[in-house]
Amino acid sequence: MLPKTGKEARQQGLPRYFTGLLCKRGHLSERYAVGGHCVECDNKRERQESQRKATTKRYYERNKEKCMAATNRWKKSSGMAYEYTKRSRAKNPALIYFSNAKRHASKIKRTPKWLSAVDWFEIQSIYKYCSALRSIGLDYHVDHIVPLQGEIVSGFHVPWNLQVIHAEQNLAKGNKFC
Ligand SMILES: [Zn+2]
Repeated sequence: MLPKTGKEARQQGLPRYFTGLLCKRGHLSERYAVGGHCVECDNKRERQESQRKATTKRYYERNKEKCMAATNRWKKSSGMAYEYTKRSRAKNPALIYFSNAKRHASKIKRTPKWLSAVDWFEIQSIYKYCSALRSIGLDYHVDHIVPLQGEIVSGFHVPWNLQVIHAEQNLAKGNKFC
């Protein structure tokens, strides 16, 4: 028998617990002692992620030239957006641009130099996927699973640290990582 709460599970050194209640997506499933995620939700997300990754990679391999050109254009224009934010901030001391510029700067700082062209293309695809959701009125954000400016640990701006989640979930998360 699994314990009913995460705390008990952690105390007993067990990886999972079972509340006997449905998760918010309706699974009657065990939860992870660390983080408290529903196991079925996590599995589902992982399946979707790996499917999306495989599709992206396949597409990249088939359309290398086109993808590389698109990624370069995209990298350039996000660099330009950063410069613009920096300039606006210099002009406008009211700190409204500050957090944006800071976030953007940490994105650049936390992007490893060794990312491959496929990695870059994947980052771009994730952002495009998110903006497609937003364009049909769904409020989704690209989130860093381990935050770039975390309080204890800082993550990297790499495809495997990115996830597309609902804005509400993202804002609730802030710079926390559990
Ligand atoms: Zn679930």
